[in-house]
Amino acid sequence: MLNIFRRAIRTGVVTTGYPDTPEPAPPAYRGQVHLHLAACTGDAACARVCPSAAISVEHSPVGGWTWTLDDRRCVFCGLCSEACPTGALSLSNEYELAARKPEDLLTRVTFRAGGTAR
Ligand code: SF4
Repeated sequence: MLNIFRRAIRTGVVTTGYPDTPEPAPPAYRGQVHLHLAACTGDAACARVCPSAAISVEHSPVGGWTWTLDDRRCVFCGLCSEACPTGALSLSNEYELAARKPEDLLTRVTFRAGGTAR
């Protein structure tokens, strides 16, 4: 028994302080999809290639469009960022995506005609 304590003391602390001290994700980690508002043109290539229908782009008859991401469906494959012709999408390092309500996992951005987000 004493040997176990000695070994534990020699080893030191091997766990991290998460969640009190957040750990950064590895550089190549594929986390939550991030939309760069100024670059989005409403092309909808992201929605067409998304294998899980996590992204939708709805064009308004009066101009403009609404871009919606459903994090409940996203599998973090990165196809949307590869397909976007203007580089408006990237996968961030964000991995803390837990939410209390399903609607909190929806990101919706409405663009006016011409492309300014509101
Ligand atoms: S990362 Fe993949 S699953 Fe997630 S929104 Fe983009 S294309 Fe869809």
